[in-house]
Amino acid sequence: MLSVVDLLWTNKTVATVCLGLVALLGDHVVTHYTQYEDVQAVADNLTHGAIGLLTWHIVRIHLAGLSLTTQLSEILLCGLLASAIDLDHFAAARSFRIQDARQLPSRPPLHCTSVMLAVCGILLLLSFTFRWVLLHCFSWILIAAVLSHHLRDATRRGLWMYPFGSSPPIPYAGYMVGCMLLPHVLPSLVGRTQPAPQHATLYSVVEM
Ligand SMILES: [Zn+2]
Repeated sequence: MLSVVDLLWTNKTVATVCLGLVALLGDHVVTHYTQYEDVQAVADNLTHGAIGLLTWHIVRIHLAGLSLTTQLSEILLCGLLASAIDLDHFAAARSFRIQDARQLPSRPPLHCTSVMLAVCGILLLLSFTFRWVLLHCFSWILIAAVLSHHLRDATRRGLWMYPFGSSPPIPYAGYMVGCMLLPHVLPSLVGRTQPAPQHATLYSVVEM
């Protein structure tokens, strides 16, 4: 009989439900502990990281063909990147104090969706041109981390699409749907942008 861990590891639906629950739980903590600014900031960042982990985990369920160690490394990397995006608050504030990082007059550069997607697009182009399979994989992990992070932040401030400005804040239900759909949309794009024909069997997209 499959355990909960086995189901979470192999079943896309169970993993997607977990992703939604993690997002809800994280947001619950963030909105209910407003008097403890440090707890709120840590919970917010951990939620970004956990959503990043689960997002790439679900992408990996779709894309078969890698060793367990490689899968775990990629999942961890996506979680770390999703979490690390918020470090630019500290860099922009030139301070390690959470209060300073949260009182910036404008959003720091890693929160600009259009610029981050342009950077990822350039990385993908390079990976395609020079047939760098690792760079291709890294680019998609970065895209998953950026989109999962920016979608969540967009419920408060919208998506920042320089030079066109920012979208209105995304309704919470829209964010939840987007966050749970994202890991099911990415795999076909990852498969279609593989850099070289000889790597065509590197990923095989498992049908939903
Ligand atoms: Zn953020």
